[in-house]
Amino acid sequence: MNRILIVEDEKNLARFIELELQHEGYETAVANDGRTGLELAITEEWDAILLDLMLPQLNGVEVCRRVRQVKETPIIMITARDSVIDRVSGLDHGADDYIVKPFAIEELLARLRALLRRIETSESEMKQTTLEYRDIVVEKESRIVKRGEDIIDLTKREYELLLTLMENINIVLTREVLLNKVWGYETEVETNVVDVYVRYLRNKIDNKGDDESYIQTVRGTGYVMRT
Ligand code: CA
Repeated sequence: MNRILIVEDEKNLARFIELELQHEGYETAVANDGRTGLELAITEEWDAILLDLMLPQLNGVEVCRRVRQVKETPIIMITARDSVIDRVSGLDHGADDYIVKPFAIEELLARLRALLRRIETSESEMKQTTLEYRDIVVEKESRIVKRGEDIIDLTKREYELLLTLMENINIVLTREVLLNKVWGYETEVETNVVDVYVRYLRNKIDNKGDDESYIQTVRGTGYVMRT
């Protein structure tokens, strides 16, 4: 369940937002001033913070700035004044989005959902540290490549080539694309170096008994690993 902190000094509005969020299945807490909001934001874990700009004791921009010094919690700024300065200042201090009062609650809910989805997607992309293809596993952080239990010893280029192919399963990569991704700026390298390295890689990863290589040649075009 997502936990949302609402920092808003207009008590009726805070209560209204809270009830709507709870109705949508969120767990909520409300702080009615900037100082309490900041303390809750820092001492507890939240999936997102709805932060009013004009607050007693500590304004929203200041709360945002101080939260950002220690945490990456997503923040949506709520601003009463539709002035560009306020919005820019909120975003400058690390807010992820903003909404202008008066707003339709549906809009707030939609922005919150979008924000949480964005965070979730980037987290799951971060977590994808291993790639698999048949019995080949690439552990990206340690740069270890295994087939079954066996570690395959690859050179830097071979590793980069394998990684590129495995990140693009079922997509045919031309020699030029591979050259660009794996060799980068060394443009004086000829495209046939790709063929040479594919051969090296096949020698190391292919199952000697198999007729077909893990890396398929697409005649006249390039290479692909297909599922
Ligand atoms: Ca206010």
